[in-house]
Amino acid sequence: MMGCRKYSKKNYNCLFDNLTVNNNTGLKLICAGCGVNLDESPQLPPDERKPCPVCESKNRHISPMINETSGIHEALKLKGKHKNIKSPFIEIFSGEDFFYKLWKWVTKHRLIDRDQDKYYEEVTDPETGKIIHYTNEKLSTHTGHGSAKEKNNDD
Ligand SMILES: [Zn+2]
Repeated sequence: MMGCRKYSKKNYNCLFDNLTVNNNTGLKLICAGCGVNLDESPQLPPDERKPCPVCESKNRHISPMINETSGIHEALKLKGKHKNIKSPFIEIFSGEDFFYKLWKWVTKHRLIDRDQDKYYEEVTDPETGKIIHYTNEKLSTHTGHGSAKEKNNDD
């Protein structure tokens, strides 16, 4: 799951809050070490976790409940910031993302370039190779249809 690679106290808490809210929507815990599904309460604090039966890791990823998932889905996220300006002038996302409309993993490439007023997004179904979502427009005219999830600030 994106956004919470770091297992600092702060990040865990953020994750924990999310999870409490989303717990009814079908989230599950998987081992961050080997990706095996774990039958463990997501509410369990890290100190009380049992080591993964396969690889003995105590790190966990949160994953949407989907049947055939076995691996960990990776994505590259980059943000560029100008000095003294809070919001990034460029944001790049490239990799796998969970597409809630279809309830499946997809390949997503996104570029937001505030300096050049560009918004580009392409979502591909990895099974068929078909483009299922495509946007290439001026950022200033982009009305925004990203999920709230993507607005997470993982600084
Ligand atoms: Zn494991």
